[in-house]
Amino acid sequence: MTKVEVLIEGYATGHNDVEKISPSVVLIETDKNKIIVDPGFNRKELMDALAHKNIATSQVDFVILTHTHLDHCLLVGAFENAIILDSSDQFFQNGEIKSQDEHTLGHSIQIIKTPGHDQFHCSVAINTDDMGTVVIAGDIFWWTSDTEPSKDYDTLLALNDQYVKDKDALIESRKIVLQIADYIIPGHGKMFKNICK
Ligand SMILES: [Zn+2]
Repeated sequence: MTKVEVLIEGYATGHNDVEKISPSVVLIETDKNKIIVDPGFNRKELMDALAHKNIATSQVDFVILTHTHLDHCLLVGAFENAIILDSSDQFFQNGEIKSQDEHTLGHSIQIIKTPGHDQFHCSVAINTDDMGTVVIAGDIFWWTSDTEPSKDYDTLLALNDQYVKDKDALIESRKIVLQIADYIIPGHGKMFKNICK
């Protein structure tokens, strides 16, 4: 049994010179593990969301970072017992680093390299019982709260990303996600059903 739940729906708004931002903060629960993807940087919002689920920071087994932009990763240290995963490695809090392998998270969860927004960006694909394949796409897909796009293939491939590092790689990464996902959780924005699969 593998479940995915959006704890904080990612958003990005701007008023005057102040941006207000949160990434999508996602909880994955398997029979063995509690996993947080992108803890974000708003401590109160994160702690409130965990408290609401009755989860202590010490109970979280893994934290996956889609990329290391501070708005997505600043609070990674809040989980005192967690192993931290990026696109390829596992960071243990005793200072050890090891490569990931197929046993790290089990068969229902896959970390996929999706470069473009950032060179080491990854997405997380989860096979669920109730929603098919859910992909936590980080900033492969994101938009500001006032620019919610339509969800057709061409629009999604062409989404503007003002922070893109490698545009060609980003488009390839978007194609991969659109090929496998039944549902997509963007870095900032509401989860949506992938009608392009
Ligand atoms: Zn972001």
